[in-house]
Amino acid sequence: MDLSLPFRDPALCRSLLDALSRELDAFGRPVRFMEVCGTHTVSIFQSGLRPLLPANLTHLSGPGCPVCVTHDSEIAAILEAAGRPGVIVAAFGDLLRVPGPDGRTLRSVLAEGARVQVVYSPLDAVKLAASCPGETVVFPAVGFETTAPAIAGALLTARRQGVRNFCILPCCKLVPPALRALLEAPDESVPDRQERIDAFLLPGHVAVVLGLAPFRFVAEEFGRPAVVGGFQPADILSALCLMVRMLREGRPAVGNTYVRAVSEEGSPAARQVMDAVFRPADAFWRGLGRIPQSGLVLRGEWADFDGFRCLGVERKETKPVPGCRCGDILRGRLTPDRCPLFGTVCTPQNPTGPCMVSTEGSCAAWYRYGGR
Ligand code: SF4
Repeated sequence: MDLSLPFRDPALCRSLLDALSRELDAFGRPVRFMEVCGTHTVSIFQSGLRPLLPANLTHLSGPGCPVCVTHDSEIAAILEAAGRPGVIVAAFGDLLRVPGPDGRTLRSVLAEGARVQVVYSPLDAVKLAASCPGETVVFPAVGFETTAPAIAGALLTARRQGVRNFCILPCCKLVPPALRALLEAPDESVPDRQERIDAFLLPGHVAVVLGLAPFRFVAEEFGRPAVVGGFQPADILSALCLMVRMLREGRPAVGNTYVRAVSEEGSPAARQVMDAVFRPADAFWRGLGRIPQSGLVLRGEWADFDGFRCLGVERKETKPVPGCRCGDILRGRLTPDRCPLFGTVCTPQNPTGPCMVSTEGSCAAWYRYGGR
């Protein structure tokens, strides 16, 4: 039985859309909300919800796609690792087509003789290393708080099983510091209604791990509603209704309409695994630049598994891919259709930037399902 079925019920969605319209009308001014989760991005487009949203509600996609926010300097470092003799890069499939600053991709260096293999989990990369004792298997650790526990678990397994030829390139990012960076951006403080993000649809998967507390600053310091939502149309609509009601009542808070998956305290077990291996550190995000304490690096006792150290690979200063506006897309400053390369030079078959590569990227979703 498909348990998500009730949350896709057309009659329920229609009544929630009506309720959303009523809330917006009662509030009396247009609202701009941002989702910060690639799964929400795709779900809003794929379910056909986007064209049905009231005209006075603007949907923005933020930095919620892990492949998209991976910085050019990190992509360049992954490509550099792939060029090392005796190295196999074991990566998630989306990463293979992300162009680095020089236009090369993992797929193109594979064609030139580099050893690159698609894996479906970090544990698959550990298994690959165990089966290739003469090689070094490097896993580019790209993801958010949702992926980091699995990567940490893979490292614990590698150590327990004595797999010494496995390492990672730590590039994981943390969502709450990125939200803070968006809210603290200088242009965000300009009291321009066209530019302001009124409320956030919080990522359900990340909240499964973190719980609600790490997001409270959004309401308490910045006065914006922030609501955790699930991924079916009715989940999203009920989260939007709650967020607009909070605006109307002038009571911004952190809400949760995804109670069947997200609890107040999140998953202490997942955080414990993550904390055993990683610690927060400053990180570079595509479009947002350097954000304090927004990334995860390996703790000192895990240094032997750090591919940057083991392979002598560095994150070098890089220039963005010419013409690509992914940075603006990820800050909600631009919709994909307004990028001059969208749909002509840049398509899913021939992507210029990561937002067109990733299945969770805004440009790919816009291309596939259309805008409003
Ligand atoms: S359409 Fe392509 S080039 Fe433009 S922002 Fe999106 S990914 Fe980058």
